Amino acid sequence: MTAMLPEAAEYIVVGGGTAGSVVAARLAESGHDVLLLEAGPDFGPEGDPSWPADFVDATRLGRSHDWGYDSGDTYPWTVGFERARAIGGSSDVNGCTQTWGHRRDYDAWAEAGLDGWAADDLVPLFEEGMRRMRVRQFTAIELTPWQHTWYDAAPTVGMPRLSTLNDLDEAAGFAPEAMNIQDGVRVNAAFAYLDPVRSLPNLRIVGDALVDRVVVDRGVATGVVVRHRGEVVVVRAGTVVLAGGAYNSPTILQRSGIGAFAHLAPLDLPLVHHLPGVGENLHDQPFLLMSFAGSDRMTSEMRAAREAGWTPDEQAMGKAASRFETEAFDLHFLPYSPTHRGDEKRWSVGTSALLPRSRGFVRVTSADPEAKPWIDHRFLSDPEGIDAAMLAEGAGILRELAASPAMAGLVGAEIHPGPSTFTRQALTAHLYRHPDNYWHPVGSCRMGVAGDPLAVVDARARVHGIEGLRVADASIMPRIPRATTAMPTIVVGENVARMMLEEATP
Ligand SMILES: Cc1cc2nc3c(=O)[nH]c(=O)nc-3n(C[C@H](O)[C@H](O)[C@H](O)COP(=O)(O)OP(=O)(O)OC[C@H]3O[C@@H](n4cnc5c(N)ncnc54)[C@H](O)[C@@H]3O)c2cc1C
Repeated sequence: MTAMLPEAAEYIVVGGGTAGSVVAARLAESGHDVLLLEAGPDFGPEGDPSWPADFVDATRLGRSHDWGYDSGDTYPWTVGFERARAIGGSSDVNGCTQTWGHRRDYDAWAEAGLDGWAADDLVPLFEEGMRRMRVRQFTAIELTPWQHTWYDAAPTVGMPRLSTLNDLDEAAGFAPEAMNIQDGVRVNAAFAYLDPVRSLPNLRIVGDALVDRVVVDRGVATGVVVRHRGEVVVVRAGTVVLAGGAYNSPTILQRSGIGAFAHLAPLDLPLVHHLPGVGENLHDQPFLLMSFAGSDRMTSEMRAAREAGWTPDEQAMGKAASRFETEAFDLHFLPYSPTHRGDEKRWSVGTSALLPRSRGFVRVTSADPEAKPWIDHRFLSDPEGIDAAMLAEGAGILRELAASPAMAGLVGAEIHPGPSTFTRQALTAHLYRHPDNYWHPVGSCRMGVAGDPLAVVDARARVHGIEGLRVADASIMPRIPRATTAMPTIVVGENVARMMLEEATP
């Protein structure tokens, strides 16, 4: 399946993940010469038997090809920072929820001077991304009894039942999800974007090609250094586009000598361009998973649902505002239902604080491209304690819902975090002791205008101070949208590709 490395390409896209697949496909279908380098395997088109079962099967999150990142010794326990290492990237393994967020998310980017990123600019790209990813809006009759219980009771805490979460002007509500699942198959970005262009002679996709660094000559990116089949090779490029994701795009820049010199010098990395924002501003939405005892009635209703056929684990979601949010909403609620796993799984529901104030970082620990980076999200570290308070409010809303007459006798007693955390003080202490993530890291190569000292790329995704080098993935989002990040990342890929094609000579 894996092609040979050429000596040069007009465009090199580094990372065939969610956004990288979009950028490579859009450039290739417009006739440009594109080399797509992916560190993990390229399993070929949809239906090829080499695709691992856990990637294709939407009943579970994929685990078989992962970068193996985690929180290291930041906490007394380990928080996994899963990221797929294969063509399709994290779209191969994710929960298939496709949400857009709120109009204010993108308008705020544009108001910060990032032209071309206002909600109205992006809506057509969201619509196209949904079409390409074969996203379908699920309906209330498809919800499992567990999901339905939360959806039915939502109005009792002020969340109206909605038909979609993806109205950019809607603030609060509970709705069935829009999902990229077709006949039980997780439709990943490689199927959606690369398959239609795989046969083009001007697109080369090379798997098992780990990009070590970008070669920069007098301020111009001229190619990349790649590890492929046991060899280290330099491939020349007109333009390099990094799409390695929020953990890896900044570390490729750092190994290339682009970053805060104070972090690079002790590792004997070259000092090419001092750009102190590289790897900073890393953030994700802190998350709390709660579980309940269930009930005999719920168990038998779920058993009946299971016998009637498979339905997705994540299929209904709520959104609401904490007291810190005046514009729209800043909390998610996500009931998980274990239809396909038998009765052994606990009855769970998660809440997430969507607009975290805390910011962390990712830094290389060595010049070796296989070395794991230091990832410290600094969850719940904002000095005012707003992130923890937001999350505690989310848990409070779920507790109120669970205690409502509509749910009484169905969900059972709370098991986790449980009665020992029923006071706000005890719950907050629990949150600080057990930070968790929502798998949505962004922001580590953030967009910002020239003169912004921590900006890494400009509004057209060009790395400040280096010609011929761009970043196009979740890392360039300056602030996370109040959404799960798969579809916003597809939109980043679409928008950057659109801008590149505007500039390209035909
Ligand atoms: C378990 C899990 C569940 C999730 N659930 C959801 C969900 O239900 N809904 C939702 O909206 N979002 C979800 N997400 C988040 C969403 O999948 C990500 O935000 C999105 O996929 C990020 O896309 P990306 O292009 O930035 O990075 P990725 O898709 O991770 O792509 C990066 C690619 O670059 C490659 N790469 C990295 N470094 C190099 C290198 N040095 N050389 C060559 N290639 C390299 C990687 O192997 C990978 O293929 C989930 C994520 C995970 C991990």
